[in-house]
Amino acid sequence: MPRSERRKELDRIYRKTHREQRRAYYWQNREYALKYARAYREKHRDEIYSKLRERYQHNKGEINKRAKMQRQLVRIEVLSHYADGSPKCAVCNECDDVVLCIDHIAGSGNQHRKLLGGLFGHRFYVWLKTNGYPEGFQVLCYNCNQRKKHYKGEV
Ligand SMILES: [Zn+2]
Repeated sequence: MPRSERRKELDRIYRKTHREQRRAYYWQNREYALKYARAYREKHRDEIYSKLRERYQHNKGEINKRAKMQRQLVRIEVLSHYADGSPKCAVCNECDDVVLCIDHIAGSGNQHRKLLGGLFGHRFYVWLKTNGYPEGFQVLCYNCNQRKKHYKGEV
């Protein structure tokens, strides 16, 4: 085994067997570690991006699948929060999460989302989560949501 390969192998083993120590060291020297990481990223930007691109091209299917799963998880988490438990419609108790969505209780949801810079689809769920689940939302199924719109708030 060439020297550099051996070095890498030893590093790998070290990282595995000293996880706790490495973590403690990181937290003790966090400022420095962050500064160092930032400088490294700036210096090797092109290299990093081309590697990432390459990796993405190579594992496109798997990466997209994971991203989709991640989005799904966030969605379920947000729906669960607003349904006070497992996701279900506040009106008819429909619990198939495929047809559930977040509804602005007061209406005018589209205006609100536009104001926030086009928070549609997944971005809206992320926004709700990162903003600590603001009040004023509920879970509805598409049927009840449409019915609410049609009868102007009377479901
Ligand atoms: Zn419903």
